[in-house]
This record gives sequence, structure tokens and C-alpha cells, in this order.
Amino acid sequence: MKPEILEFRTLIEGATSIAVVAHERPDGDAIGSLIALTLSLQNAGKQVASILADGVPNRFRFLPGTDDVQRTFPTDCNLLIVLDCSDVERTGFEVEDLPRSVDINVDHHPTNTHFGVVNIVDPHASATAEILFGLAEPLGLEIDSRVATNLLTGLVTDTIGFRTTNVTPQVLNVVARLIELGAPLSEIYERALNRRSIIVARYWGYGLLRLEQEDGLVWTSLTLEDRQRVGYSGKDDADLINLLSTIDGAEVTVIFVEQSEGAVKVSWRSRAGLNIAPLAEAFGGGGHHQAAGAMIAGDLEEVTKRVISATRGILKSVTESRR
Ligand code: AMP
Ligand code: MN
Ligand code: MN
Repeated sequence: MKPEILEFRTLIEGATSIAVVAHERPDGDAIGSLIALTLSLQNAGKQVASILADGVPNRFRFLPGTDDVQRTFPTDCNLLIVLDCSDVERTGFEVEDLPRSVDINVDHHPTNTHFGVVNIVDPHASATAEILFGLAEPLGLEIDSRVATNLLTGLVTDTIGFRTTNVTPQVLNVVARLIELGAPLSEIYERALNRRSIIVARYWGYGLLRLEQEDGLVWTSLTLEDRQRVGYSGKDDADLINLLSTIDGAEVTVIFVEQSEGAVKVSWRSRAGLNIAPLAEAFGGGGHHQAAGAMIAGDLEEVTKRVISATRGILKSVTESRR
């Protein structure tokens, strides 16, 4: 057994009150991983609190175990586990508001800063949920159907329905095993990826109207006014980026989502062979080679100009090096 897994096991055995937290604006991998680990530790007799700074978005409420997610930490916590976060700030909590320093960091972002005492970071994993699946046996944790459902949600959403280049035969073997353990694949796929409200469709409409294209670059923006007009309560792009990245010739797709705090949430997606994570990092964010994001201070117009210019530069250098 790898030393860090042994350490993970020892820390769990010694803990009486565990807090598990995943990232702000949680996606399916953050929520699925969080709930899966929480439930399996609870099944092993541990006292565990699931924490998300932003709570659970409506579309993931179908997942078993999401009702118990809290927005604040218990005071008596003696083990802190952070999931699917490339750095500690991604939890959405100020470091001084965490109940203790991070004991265990489980993640798959290549930009992970190894902020835990124990760090289990595998950038080749398609999702944090895939890493947790592999940890269950060595940690002595059981995967029942509720745990399997949450883990499979992490895999389905982070691979956008198994469309990303990191989907290996091994990933599909994990998927097969999770289905055998009781995870309903078609229901998860439908609810977590396919279904959307009329409000979201109208919101996308505003973004689609403003679509811009220049060579291999496709981008658009969503404003505070758009959200108000359609009544969308989130602060994100409602996954419009995944639709834009299907456009022919879009080597890099960028979306700008205006925030009320004088900032813009930027998301990038790129086709295989074009690593945009360093660019997101240069803007204070992070992510994967083909999916990255950052929160950038400034107004929509100014941030768009800066980011498009920098992204154009990356795209140009990559296409020139291919010649
Ligand atoms: P998004 O663009 O929000 O869909 O995120 C794409 C990827 O980038 C995800 O893997 C995120 O975890 C990562 N990411 C997004 N925003 C940030 C950020 N502000 N800091 C670090 N990583 C981020
Ligand atoms: Mn995530
Ligand atoms: Mn993830």
C-alpha cells in the first residue's frame, strides 16, 4: 500500500469527528465525491459532516445524501478532508475560517498545490470520484448503491458524458463496476447532464446571441442583466460552455460571466493538444489542460479584452508550432 494511503487510513481510524469539504460553486464531481466519501465513512461508523460553502444546487438534489450538506463547519472537527480543490482557497472559505489545517487533500487537477498533510493527487484521473473509487478498498470503505450513485455522477459530469480524452478503458471499468453496485447510469446522465430548465435555455439564448468567432477562437459573455431578465439564480454560465465547445472549428472556447462584485468568472475549454491550464493560472485560476477557469477582477469589457488577447496569443503560438 502506498504510504500516503496508509496515512489516510491511520488518520481516519484515529478521528472521531470528520469534516469533508469540496469546492465553491460545486460541480457534479465536487458533490458526488463529497457525498460518496461522507456516506462511506458514516457507514463505517464515523461521525462526518459534509460541507459546501455554496450548498447544493437544485440540479444535484436528486443525489442521495445531499440533504445533509451544511454550509458551516462543526466546532469539534479533528480531521479535515478537502476534495476536488486545486488549492485551499477553492473551498470558498478563508483559510482562517477553516476549523484546522487541511489533513487530507484528494484531487486530480494538475495545478494542485499539495496543501494537505497527506496529498493524494492524480492528474491522470478523470475525476476525484475515480480516485475515491480506487481508495475504497485500501481504506476498508464499502461502496453501497448510494455511494456508487454519487461516484458515478462525478465521473459522468467531469468527463462531460465520457467525451474527454482522459476516458480510458480503466475509467469505463470503474463505470461498469459502479453500475453493478447499483448506480443508475441513464438516470444520472439524464439528470446531471441533459436536463435543464426553461430559465437556463433562455439564459443561454442571451449568450448565444452575442457569440463571437475569430479563427479558432469562439467566445461569448453573460451579464448580470441577462440573469435578472430570465430569473436565473446561479452566478455561473449554466454550462453553456459545454455547448459552445461543440462548435466546428472552436479550438478554444471562452465564456465571460459578469459578477456583482466587480469581477468576471472566466471559463476556457480547448480541444485536445492545447493546454490552457497555464493561462488560467496566469490569471489567478487553475484547472485541467482542456478545462480551466479563473475569477478575474475588473469590468466585463476590460476583462474580455485582456483575456481574449492573451488567449489569442496562446492559440497563435500553438498553431505556429504545429506548422
Ligand atoms: P469551470 O470553468 O468553472 O467550469 O471550471 C473548469 C475547471 O477549472 C474545473 O476543473 C475547475 O476546478 C477549474 N477552475 C475553475 N475556476 C477556478 C479557479 N478560480 N481557481 C482554480 N481552478 C478553477
Ligand atoms: Mn470540480
Ligand atoms: Mn473534478
